[in-house]
Amino acid sequence: MPLLPDLTGRIALVTGASRGIGAAIALTLAEAGADVAVNYRQSSAEADSVAAAVAAIGRRAITIAADVSDSTAVAAMVRDVTARLGPPDVLINNAGIALIRGIDDLTEADFDQTIAVNLKSVFLCTQAVLPHMRTQGWGRIVNISSGAARGAGGVGLHYNASKAGVEGLTRGYAARLVKQGITVNAVAPSLIETDMVMKGALASAAARIPLGRFGTSEEVAQVVLMLIGNAYITGQTVALSGGMAFN
Ligand code: NAP
Repeated sequence: MPLLPDLTGRIALVTGASRGIGAAIALTLAEAGADVAVNYRQSSAEADSVAAAVAAIGRRAITIAADVSDSTAVAAMVRDVTARLGPPDVLINNAGIALIRGIDDLTEADFDQTIAVNLKSVFLCTQAVLPHMRTQGWGRIVNISSGAARGAGGVGLHYNASKAGVEGLTRGYAARLVKQGITVNAVAPSLIETDMVMKGALASAAARIPLGRFGTSEEVAQVVLMLIGNAYITGQTVALSGGMAFN
């Protein structure tokens, strides 16, 4: 059995792939052979660069602007991917936001937006790709959670709740889809060197990581690829945190 999966002929949809972890996952899946749909919300130039990098690897790539918290936009996105590349066989629910708030300055709007972008999007995108995966009896879904699903985290309790919800969806879908050849897993990173961390209040947090540095997006992508390649792992969360937490 090959150590890494051969995704030649597979179509992968990666949400939030214009930057950071999503961009690294898009490139890693392309290197494994997949054609890739690069979703983003507003960073069109960055998404174009990721698609160009996928094409340079020799795979087909498209970019799709869509707010993954909006059901109409998600339905249109999956229709578009299907028409231009083919129906997604692999879905990576990666898009997310991290509004840093304390208990007293967290508003209802912040809470609703976080749950919509980080959690409801996983439901919407998964529902949209499932019919094809079920028909062909094969599919791989990986949800990007966070150490904040189980630990204190540095963003806020709304973010904790959204990521704990993602892990609940992961187990719920995994249990119901395992007989149909579809695995659903989560990856829970803590403090990866992306805009989300480096452009916010967490930028100085490397000192509290036992390994002594932030993780890289490529290290997260490596775990995603491992999960895609293993048919016997489902409903699990794989954490990577440089020794900060042990699940
Ligand atoms: P990032 O650098 O801020 O990138 C976020 C990505 O999500 C961008 O591509 C952004 O698109 C996209 N996005 C945001 N809202 C969207 C929406 N409504 N619809 C579609 N796309 C949307 O973040 P990151 O650090 O790579 O994080 C990626 C995922 O990992 C998130 O789910 C995050 O919660 C999770 N995570 C990150 C860390 C970390 O330490 N960095 C730790 C744990 C978990 P635009 O470029 O167009 O804005």
